[in-house]
Amino acid sequence: MSNNVYQQLVDDFMARVKAKNPGEAEFHQAVQEVVESLIPYVEENPQYKHAKVLERMTEPERVILFRVPWMDDKGEIQINKGYRIEMSSAIGPYKGGLRFHPTVNLGILKFLAYEQVLKNSLTTLPMGGGKGGSDFDPKGKSDNEVMRFCQSFMTELQRHIGPNTDVPAGDIGVGGREIGFMFGQYKRLRNEFTGVLTGKGLEWGGSLIRPEATGYGNVYFAQEMLKTRGLDFAGKIVAISGSGNVAQYATEKVNMLGGKVVTLSDSNGTIYDPQGIDAEKLAWILWLKNVKRGRIKEYVDKWGGEYFHDQRPWNVKCDVALPCATQNEINKEDAITLVKNGCYCVSEGANMPSTPEAVEVFIEAKILYGPGKAANAGGVATSGLEMSQNSMRLNWTRERVDQELHTIMVNIHNTCQKYGTEPDGFINYVKGANIGGFVKVADSMLAQGLV
Ligand code: NDP
Repeated sequence: MSNNVYQQLVDDFMARVKAKNPGEAEFHQAVQEVVESLIPYVEENPQYKHAKVLERMTEPERVILFRVPWMDDKGEIQINKGYRIEMSSAIGPYKGGLRFHPTVNLGILKFLAYEQVLKNSLTTLPMGGGKGGSDFDPKGKSDNEVMRFCQSFMTELQRHIGPNTDVPAGDIGVGGREIGFMFGQYKRLRNEFTGVLTGKGLEWGGSLIRPEATGYGNVYFAQEMLKTRGLDFAGKIVAISGSGNVAQYATEKVNMLGGKVVTLSDSNGTIYDPQGIDAEKLAWILWLKNVKRGRIKEYVDKWGGEYFHDQRPWNVKCDVALPCATQNEINKEDAITLVKNGCYCVSEGANMPSTPEAVEVFIEAKILYGPGKAANAGGVATSGLEMSQNSMRLNWTRERVDQELHTIMVNIHNTCQKYGTEPDGFINYVKGANIGGFVKVADSMLAQGLV
C-alpha cells in the first residue's frame, strides 16, 4: 500500500476521533502520533483491523468525573473538578498518575491515559492504563489546604479504585506529600492497608528508588540510545527543563555518569549555569523545590549563572536535551535551534513535550529521539515494582530496584529497536515504541473477546 493510502486512512481515523471528542486538542495530538505508526502495521496484520482494536483502544473503558468541594484557610468553600480516566485494563489493573494543575481538563487527561496504555505495556509488567487528577493548584496553598483538598478528592475516588482495580500514582503537582494525604484518607474510609497508590513513603509501603525512577530511567534510556552510536554521557553538555521530580533525578543521574547539566526551569523561566549543576547545587535545589517550595530563579542569587525570564532552555548549546517539565514545551523553532546548535539526542522525561512539528524535525535530522512513552516509562515501571513488593509484603534493596529499573529500560530500548529500525539502519523510536507497546495490548484484547 502506498504512503498516500495510509495517510488517507490516518486522516479518516482522525476525522472520526475529532468528531467524537470535540475540543480535546491534546488527545487528538496523542492519538494522531500513535495511529500514524500503527495504521500501516494494522493493515499488514488484519486480525487487528477486523476486530477494530485501534478504534476500541481510542475509547476509554470508563471516565469518572466528580465534584471536589473543600474549605480554604479563610473558611471559604472552594470547588474543583476531579477526574479519573480508566483507559484500558487489557493487561492489568488501570495504572497511571494523578495530576494537580490548573490546566488539567478532560482532553489532557485522556491524552495522558492513552499514552499510558502503550507505555505500561512496554515495561513488560502487567499494568493497564489510566490517568486522573484535578484543576486544583497546590502552588501557594498551605499544607492544611492541600490536605483538606486531598481528603475530599479521595473521599470520592476511593469507590472507583483498589489494588486489583486501579492504582493511581503521582504526576505534576502530586508528590510524596499529596500521596500521603490521599493514602491516609483511603485507609480511613476503607479500613484496609493495601497498595492502592504508588509513590508511598518508605515507612508505609513505598519502594526505594521510586522517587528517582522516572529521571534515572530517562537517563538510562538516553544512555542506550547513545550506545547505538558508540557514545556515552561522559563530558556531555545536557540541557534539562523543569525542576520537579523528574528533572531533579535526571540531573542526579547525568552527574553520576559524568555529564554536565547546565539548565533547569520552571513555568516562569530558565536558569543557565555553564559551570554545571553539581551534587551540592542539586541538593540545594531539592530543598528549594520540595521543602521551601520556591522558584527556580532563586538559584542564580545563591549559585550564580543567568536567569532567562519566560524562556525555555532550548536556545542553549547542548549535546543532549532532556525535556522534563510538561507537554508541548518544544515547538518546531525550538527543535530547529536544538539541532542547529549540535544537539544529537533528545530523551523525553515529560509526556509529549515535543509538538508533532518538533518531532518531525528530529526524525528528519535523524538524531536520537526517544519519545516519552518509552523514555519516561521508568516511573511507572518502578510503581509496578512497588505493587509487587506490596503484594509480597517485602521491601527490596535500593540496589535490587535500581537494577530491575535499569534492565527494564534496556529492554524497552531493545523493543523500540526491534520494531523501529528502518532499512537504512536509523532507529525510529516513535514507531518502535508505538508498535512495541501495541502488540501485547491488542493480542490481549483479541483473546478477551469484544470488550
Ligand atoms: P513536578 O510537579 O514535580 O514538576 C513539574 C515541573 O515542570 C516543575 O518544574 C513545573 O514548574 C514545570 N511545569 C509544569 N507545568 C508547566 C508549564 N505549563 N510550563 C512550564 N513548566 C511547567 O512534576 P513531575 O516532575 O512529576 O512531572 C514532569 C513531567 O514528567 C510531566 O510531563 C509528567 O507527566 C511526566 N512524568 C512524570 C512521572 C513521575 O513519575 N513523576 C512519570 C512519567 C512522566 P512550576 O513549579 O512552575 O509549575
